[in-house]
Amino acid sequence: MQQFQQYIDGAFEDGSARFESLDPANGRPWALMPEARADDVNRAVETAERAFFNPEWANMTATQRGKLLIRLSELVADAAPRLAELETRDTGKIIRETSAQIAYVAEYYRYYAGLADKIQGAHLPIDKPDMDVWLRREPVGVVAAVVPWNSQLFLSAVKIGPALAAGCTVVLKASEEGPAPMLEFAKIFDQAGFPKGVLNIVTGFGPDCGSVLTSHPKIAHVAFTGGPATARHIVRNSAENLASTSLELGGKSPFIVFEDADIESAVNAQVSGIFAATGQSCVAGSRLVVQRSIKDEFLSRLKEKAENVVIGAPDDMATEVGPLCTEKQREHALDLISRSTHMGAKLVTGGAACEGEGFYFPPTILDCTAVPDAPCVTTEFFGPVLSVLDFEDEAEAIEIANTTQFGLASGIFTRDLTRAHRMIRAIRAGIVWVNTYRAVSPIAPFGGHGLSGYGREGGIDAALEYTKIKSVWLRTSDDPIPDPFVMR
Ligand code: NAD
Repeated sequence: MQQFQQYIDGAFEDGSARFESLDPANGRPWALMPEARADDVNRAVETAERAFFNPEWANMTATQRGKLLIRLSELVADAAPRLAELETRDTGKIIRETSAQIAYVAEYYRYYAGLADKIQGAHLPIDKPDMDVWLRREPVGVVAAVVPWNSQLFLSAVKIGPALAAGCTVVLKASEEGPAPMLEFAKIFDQAGFPKGVLNIVTGFGPDCGSVLTSHPKIAHVAFTGGPATARHIVRNSAENLASTSLELGGKSPFIVFEDADIESAVNAQVSGIFAATGQSCVAGSRLVVQRSIKDEFLSRLKEKAENVVIGAPDDMATEVGPLCTEKQREHALDLISRSTHMGAKLVTGGAACEGEGFYFPPTILDCTAVPDAPCVTTEFFGPVLSVLDFEDEAEAIEIANTTQFGLASGIFTRDLTRAHRMIRAIRAGIVWVNTYRAVSPIAPFGGHGLSGYGREGGIDAALEYTKIKSVWLRTSDDPIPDPFVMR
């Protein structure tokens, strides 16, 4: 079995313990992972703190930090095929997706490399004649980054990139469900030439590793991606260290199709929106909200596509839907489907686990028009399961779309320009895609409302989350300071 190591203080080492990682395509162990426990995590945070104050990093110019990030971006681009192979092996995400996505991850590092020396302060027109006052943007300190299993290289790039650009140091906890790509990434990072301890990568379980990390007194900011239940732990943990937090959580995003839409395009986008990544995507368009007049036609075309999707080995370029990452995910999907069909949701296609080895689950569609409050409509599956609702007019579409505790993404399909603008304003979500779906870029912020979390990743403002403002007051007068009991 392959063995992986954690990365602390620029060295590769075994963790306090080890655990087996399963190959989702057959359910069998394929690699041994280092399990970080409290001692390892404490050491990683101490190291990151030392690196933060080490003049080698602390006095490095922003331009030089940017150059190191450029180097990292090139190394990631070169290693993309190897990283993709490992992510596919350890998480079951299909190679077709991981190869394209990881090649693009390099662009995130390149983007934040360019931003490093554009994070700037300001000079204030202060209301006192003998003072010069300006603002410095300084790195917040040691960052704890915690990521889930899906798209780990991508979800960590949107944290590591801006954090290092801002001058922070980082301890990243990879997901225990498939950490291989992050542990391999550590080797690539090691070649980029950053000072030791600037980035440390560990993996382990929630209580012994994640919790110790996010409540550590030396952590200044926690950047978390995962589910809302874990996010509540993170926020409670941050009561210990009063770290700032950014939370990128799940979704139940509406995919709204009006009768005037380009139906073929909308069907294809919906297939991508819910079945790509085997539905294990936080922005999955998991609620189809379709105009009643075209519901039957739309559903029949969607059903046909869903039933013709190529389900197969994740490392086969022809595969379109691979296994879920864990058996637990499959049980969660089956439970939600069973509770929803008992309430009256109608199964259009799929619904039962695939036979044979591995954690496979087929594209599934549930017609929920009679039961809009069924659990499949309100709860995130994180799997290839679509719940269908219908509407009569624009007002009803908006009401259905916004009837959710989440608010991450949304899609609107219409050829009516003015309606599109009205919908864009009315939808309560962090992302609105019009006549497209699942497009991302380092240049565009990403994040949600409500149970989808707060804070934004991607874009310029994300880097500011890793900084704090320092106000500097400089007295320009040579006169003696007058009356010490009068505030100046
Ligand atoms: P999860 O919340 O179970 O785990 C995420 C990470 O948190 C893992 O590394 C885990 O070990 C760690 N963790 C668990 N307990 C912890 C604790 N007490 N303290 C600190 N860390 C702890 O999420 P998951 O099931 O692995 O991933 C799926 C979820 O992630 C879904 O809800 C999905 O929507 C969400 N997600 C969101 C985005 C986004 O950008 N908004 C992207 C991808 C996934």
